[in-house]
Amino acid sequence: MTRIALFPGSFDPFTKGHEDIVLRGLKLFDQIIIAIGYNSGKSVRYFDINLMKERIEKTFKDYPGIKVVIFAELTAEFAKKNGARYLLRGLRNTTDFEYENSIAQVNRYLNEELESVFLITSPQFASISSSIIREVHRYKGDVSNFLPYQL
Ligand code: ADP
Repeated sequence: MTRIALFPGSFDPFTKGHEDIVLRGLKLFDQIIIAIGYNSGKSVRYFDINLMKERIEKTFKDYPGIKVVIFAELTAEFAKKNGARYLLRGLRNTTDFEYENSIAQVNRYLNEELESVFLITSPQFASISSSIIREVHRYKGDVSNFLPYQL
């Protein structure tokens, strides 16, 4: 049976921390669908969603098991439609844990078949966050070391 995982996120932008979760996830799953979504709590995106899709596709061009999509619906529903029985997420700290715990409980309620799987961040990426990268970029700082592609 093909094990398909959905890796949903805002990816605004997609970082080396996200890349690390995907590459490690490939040891567990046959296919990973990276799903760029709109997070209603962070309504206005900073990086264009189509640009981000293209950059992520470029990053994983040598990995046939990785697909990149844009979605705007319930994650639990979207997973079901795509045959994904696993939700992949990353954890950096207790703040992530609190947030991820709530999301996972809701997703379980919405789709009992869906199992959330969490990978703990690799230490070298623990401090990388999309929000800090947006801040640095806004004020013309160099963010290239945090991204697995050229902007
Ligand atoms: P969301 O808006 O859904 O939280 P993000 O794009 O911020 O989406 O993050 C997607 C997932 O990646 C989340 O599970 C988040 O905790 C995880 N993540 C973000 N940065 C890192 C990192 N540096 N290391 C490991 N996981 C990370």
